[in-house]
Amino acid sequence: MGLLSERVLNMSTSATLAMAAKTRELKAQGKDIIGLSLGEPDFNTPDYIKDAAIQAINENYNSYSPVDGYVELKEAIITKFKRDNNLTYTLPQIVVSTGAKQSLANVASVMINKGDEVILPCPYWVSYADIVELFEGVPVEVKTSIDNDFKMTPEQLEAAITPKTKMIWYSSPCNPSGSLYSTEELRALADVLQKYPDIYVVSDEIYEHINFTKNGHASMAQFEDMFDRTVTVNGVSKAFAMTGWRIGFIGAPEVIARACNKMQGQITSGANCIAQRATITALNESPTRVKFMIDEFKVRRDLVLDLLSEVEGFKTNTPEGAFYVFPNVSYYFGKTLRGKTINNATDFSLYLLEEALVATVTGDAFGNPDCIRISYAASQEQIIEAIKRIKDAVN
Ligand code: PLP
Repeated sequence: MGLLSERVLNMSTSATLAMAAKTRELKAQGKDIIGLSLGEPDFNTPDYIKDAAIQAINENYNSYSPVDGYVELKEAIITKFKRDNNLTYTLPQIVVSTGAKQSLANVASVMINKGDEVILPCPYWVSYADIVELFEGVPVEVKTSIDNDFKMTPEQLEAAITPKTKMIWYSSPCNPSGSLYSTEELRALADVLQKYPDIYVVSDEIYEHINFTKNGHASMAQFEDMFDRTVTVNGVSKAFAMTGWRIGFIGAPEVIARACNKMQGQITSGANCIAQRATITALNESPTRVKFMIDEFKVRRDLVLDLLSEVEGFKTNTPEGAFYVFPNVSYYFGKTLRGKTINNATDFSLYLLEEALVATVTGDAFGNPDCIRISYAASQEQIIEAIKRIKDAVN
């Protein structure tokens, strides 16, 4: 009998975290690595949110919270959903978790039975396939490409559906492509689902506020006919620069939310109490208070696109949200650079790490082997220097 379970042995290590570990290792060796691999804002949590946390400590918030979160936080989430997304949730439909990652794992654990298929438009966030597989589901990848802005079409969705399809999971804005589904595009997908009333949607909206368009954010649950079969996932990690605080949440059909509450009650209990109190303030305040970060991400997005347009063999879409670009670098496959043969995106990403001292993430991790992900959650100076180094390394 082996020491470790097949479950963990079959699971891959998060590629973004693996790249972060490799970057740390090279930095420890004294190498001047520019890290463009991580999915976290390089800003500090705003002071008004930190103050709320300090106040919570001083007010002695130190006990277990209710498993699904403080009532005041769930009320703030309900207000947020109404204000920002025109979604009307009630208290039993909300569950607060230790990051949106736990929210997603909860949903998978309470909804997936062995062999259930989960449709994942590619590229998808690095953990989706592994979370689905952990709960014995089968990820069904739907390939998209730069030519359709990395978005799944209604025809592709229809073709991917089988009698075993349980759910569709996607993020909009998308990590890693930065693509957004518009209201019309979501409606077209919802129209396909009308024929399949048993299929649910998990709409990961964690990058909601990091949106550079004038049209704003669209949610699947905004359609009356989809509300009862959509789980809306969100959290404060990205737009509020609160990755380490670990607060995510769902708005979901009550039966799913209560099942997540039951599951979480056996695994972690309620999320960190101080972080929950701080999140009440983060959500009750107007999102305009974090707009300065979004504005800066947009400036950087434009900078990255401008600089990458001068690098041979990098084909990009125009990301409309989040803080990533996902260039297709297949131009380099089969070529030899500085004596190293590049066969795929993983080779290319490693080449950039070793020769340009710039950390990126292979697209393989996101279900697209032709691309690499570059995060622009870094200063403009770092971005300029990193892309200069990349340009030198591929010339
Ligand atoms: N969903 C997407 C698309 C993400 O990119 C991330 C983090 O990178 C998460 C969920 C997890 O967020 P959290 O920090 O709230 O666990």
